[in-house]
Amino acid sequence: MTPQIVVHEMPPPGGTCTACCLTPTAELPVADVFTRDPALVTCTVRRTAVTVDTDCGESPFGWTDPR
Ligand SMILES: [Zn+2]
Repeated sequence: MTPQIVVHEMPPPGGTCTACCLTPTAELPVADVFTRDPALVTCTVRRTAVTVDTDCGESPFGWTDPR
């Protein structure tokens, strides 16, 4: 099994977080690599992170306080 190497976009000048997933480079797996070419980026965290909870804040609790 070949480990999946994730290519992240380099943080902007002066920045510490990757431009693709806004994660500090220090918190990413050491096996991950970085590039300045957006075409080479394989990180998909940003894409999955925008998935919106469609629950609309509806409470899972149907009961009311008896007091
Ligand atoms: Zn990333």
